[in-house]
Amino acid sequence: MEDRELARFKEWLLTERDRLVGEIEYVESTMEQTQSEWSGENEFESHIADSATSTFARESDLSLSINSRDMLSKVDGALLRIEDGSFGICVVCGRPIESERLEAIPYAELCMEDQIKEEKS
Ligand SMILES: [Zn+2]
Repeated sequence: MEDRELARFKEWLLTERDRLVGEIEYVESTMEQTQSEWSGENEFESHIADSATSTFARESDLSLSINSRDMLSKVDGALLRIEDGSFGICVVCGRPIESERLEAIPYAELCMEDQIKEEKS
């Protein structure tokens, strides 16, 4: 892969990394707030409806946070592969990952064929 192209992917990955870190921090700070509201709850029965809503909000925040963490580790992995020169190479078969695929998912670890196999297994 050309250096120029690699630099472009690196820039994208660093931007994405910043975005994800911000998102995780935001979700975690909201969750802390929700938790302190929750533990400070004394008049429990009169607030059942509110509680149900906030439990739901907490769960969706939690899964958002998990997704972001998952993405972040993929982005970090791709940045490491740029550093060690293995970026854009399938970790399973060692062949170059299709360029259209990298354009769509710059942090892809698998070529199209191995990705399909992975999803089937
Ligand atoms: Zn492969």
